[in-house]
Amino acid sequence: MTSSRLLIGQSLPSPEDIFGFRMGSDRQLIDWNQIVDYFHTLDRHSDRIIVQELGKTTLGKPFLMAVISSENNLRNLDHYQSIQKRIANPGDMSREESQELLEEARAVVMVSLNIHATEIGSSQESVELAWELATQTDPKTRKILDNVIVLLMPSLNPDGLQMVVEWYRKHVGTPHEGCSMPWLYHHYAGHDNNRDLFFFNLQESRLVSRILYRDWFPEIVYDQHQMGSTGARLFIPPYVDPVNLNVHPILMAEINMLGKHVVSDMQDQGFTGVETGSRFNAFFQGVMARTPIWHNILGILSEAASARIATPIYLPRGSLQQHGPERPRYSHRTDFLDPWEGGWWRLRDIIEYEKAATYSILHLTATYRKKFATNFFTMNRDAIKKGKDESPYAYILPPEQHDPNSATEMLKRLDFNGIAIFRSQDDLKYAGVTYPQGTFVIPLAQPCRPAIKDLLEPQVYPNMKQYPDGPPTPPYDFTGWTLPLQMGVEIVEMKTPLRADLMPADSYVFDPARDIDVAAAAYIIERRYNNAYAIVNEWMKNQKTDVYWTDENLRHDRDTYPSGSLIVPNRGDAASVLEKLSATYHVPVTGISQLPPVRGTRARRPRLGIYQPWITSMDEGWTRLVLDNFRFEHTSLHNEDIQDGKLADKYDAIILPDMGTEAIVEGKRRWGGEPYLGVPEMPEKYRGGIDKKGVEALLAFVKNGGTLITIGRACDFAIDKLKVPAVNVLKEVKPKDYYAPGSLLRIELDNTHPLAHGMPKQTAIRVANSPAFRLLPYNREVHAVGYYTDDDPLLSGWLIGSEKLEGHTTLADIPVEKGRVVLFGFGVQCRAQTYGTFKLLFNAILSSRIESVESLKDEIE
Ligand SMILES: [Zn+2]
Repeated sequence: MTSSRLLIGQSLPSPEDIFGFRMGSDRQLIDWNQIVDYFHTLDRHSDRIIVQELGKTTLGKPFLMAVISSENNLRNLDHYQSIQKRIANPGDMSREESQELLEEARAVVMVSLNIHATEIGSSQESVELAWELATQTDPKTRKILDNVIVLLMPSLNPDGLQMVVEWYRKHVGTPHEGCSMPWLYHHYAGHDNNRDLFFFNLQESRLVSRILYRDWFPEIVYDQHQMGSTGARLFIPPYVDPVNLNVHPILMAEINMLGKHVVSDMQDQGFTGVETGSRFNAFFQGVMARTPIWHNILGILSEAASARIATPIYLPRGSLQQHGPERPRYSHRTDFLDPWEGGWWRLRDIIEYEKAATYSILHLTATYRKKFATNFFTMNRDAIKKGKDESPYAYILPPEQHDPNSATEMLKRLDFNGIAIFRSQDDLKYAGVTYPQGTFVIPLAQPCRPAIKDLLEPQVYPNMKQYPDGPPTPPYDFTGWTLPLQMGVEIVEMKTPLRADLMPADSYVFDPARDIDVAAAAYIIERRYNNAYAIVNEWMKNQKTDVYWTDENLRHDRDTYPSGSLIVPNRGDAASVLEKLSATYHVPVTGISQLPPVRGTRARRPRLGIYQPWITSMDEGWTRLVLDNFRFEHTSLHNEDIQDGKLADKYDAIILPDMGTEAIVEGKRRWGGEPYLGVPEMPEKYRGGIDKKGVEALLAFVKNGGTLITIGRACDFAIDKLKVPAVNVLKEVKPKDYYAPGSLLRIELDNTHPLAHGMPKQTAIRVANSPAFRLLPYNREVHAVGYYTDDDPLLSGWLIGSEKLEGHTTLADIPVEKGRVVLFGFGVQCRAQTYGTFKLLFNAILSSRIESVESLKDEIE
């Protein structure tokens, strides 16, 4: 803080002064650029606010956090921050020692807004809330400022906020006012940006992780959302079942207390329609409002009813209803004491509800400052102690990994979770195996023990039914996310106390870079490394030459390289280029002096298209992220691009992301019924799907040599519309008989087939009520490359009806005239998390533009 700062108090311009309307006025919005400017104004003119730019978003916008507290607290911010870090990681600090710290500590509360860009109320609220905290002088505000340090994030998705505001403004006053946007509001993830908060694929999540688990360790995170329009006006915890057993009961009790306190406060102030205990659970880790609870941090979600962006809607009596199986009727209940009666619902109402909840949380935190600090300290200490006293004591990553790149990547993701990773100083012996010095070890004696366990162990989801023998109670989200399974990484759980000297790991790389043999005839790159594909893609793009692979096992020195191993001829400056790529991507590139006369394949740079529907597909977005990360070039194809036809002239492979047949063909959304009067429709240009013309174009594409890659539900499109010889055996099965809500299942692979090159014989796949196939007799050879065995395939999550899967195919390569259709009956690239199966998708793409070579020796040397 500099002395030139002025405390202007009430004279600080309000948002209304600056923008010319009250926040939340009908049909009026401020965009991200305006919000950024306003926060900088507050920073300049108030001694109660420090605004920090944490970094840039995916599309390069500034990502902001405002630190708001009393003038005195902000003057001593470093001091309070260091206290917070000590409480967060207390080691074996004694109670006496802690007393002084806990007395002095300020409560730290993160208020995170607008991760879902169309849930726009909170972004508009942000400036008003900040202005009020900066200017109000009443005793309640003073109490909050004196006791609490607020970390306010005005939007967790600034790119999306800007897009949504621009789209809305463009259509205000037209029949399209308030209609959906025809593209994802996060460049890669759309709504799924709020499924990333334990995996940290996205730039925005990574910026948040630094504040949560490195810089600040808030005791409370309050994350604001909006839901549909016709239920309660505001949801606040308690959450519904099931309880995640890794989470400390103290924490859940505090969450319950805090939620009920908000209900009571809001009732006092005349707010109606506030509910608790419906639909939203705290079992799944990936969302902003809950991911902190595995770190002993209270995670509070609120969900306000939505208007139509900034357009008010009228809810007649009788239009209101409950959602979720806990609430069959819209009526008075213990956890819904005062139902809202209906009427106009406006953006301003949302801001009022959200602000009231925020003040209630901040005020309660101020009141019980020491209780929250003490419990945070206690839970962190308990976690460390439990890690020392209770199995599992540690996780070991054996140095021999099928894909060392994925193992490295997993450690990076754990690091984003604030998990400390170590290497053994000496040989480490466990269960009869000796792991060499330098082996990666993750001890459980850490404050975030719940997170470590939950990320690395298989999930066991309770078999919850809506009534005895009834259908399953749908979970909030996926039920299994075990990182080693998703990523194909081997870990060993240590069930005896860890006695080893450890040092903090300063790098997560498994294989050190090696020199390259400049005189070699060619270079071999093993396909089991995920990053081998990034190397090959960069090579093909920049060198504009082809790559090869062997179709037989290839012996060199004492090593045998399996069929599918990639081969790059040593021509021109290949040696120096590959040496650089090898070091960048941590993939060994081995020179061989002589190529044997084995059969092989030549691959050219594939021309890849991805279907991008105007009704938006998050799976499409995640697919782009995976392809970008591994340097695949690709083009987005819209309905008209597909309908234009002649696709085989332009593309070698086309991906249909996980979407149902009606969505692809007719542009029908998964949710919501037929439009009626008053519901804005998208502009004509963005309506409909690929239509009959598009179906014919895709069929012609395949017949003329193209590779059509269908993922998840899009396999049904290939079966229904292109008539490929397969049946989805799960299509008509009821959830009561078969249910796999985001679970991880085991399949067998034929890894001699080019689609499964580089893969182990078995793998875990992500299944979210995905299809499984019975292949039909055909006039060509059809390859069942991946299939379920007769054993129960459940590895993590929840599965009802495993017998429905027995023996069925989940990955098939079906030739159709000159081309082929590849059916992926699972989330091969799901949410950009399934590193263990990415290669299957990469293989499908890479094998879309190939020719056979009789002898690699003659071709290359
Ligand atoms: Zn939301």
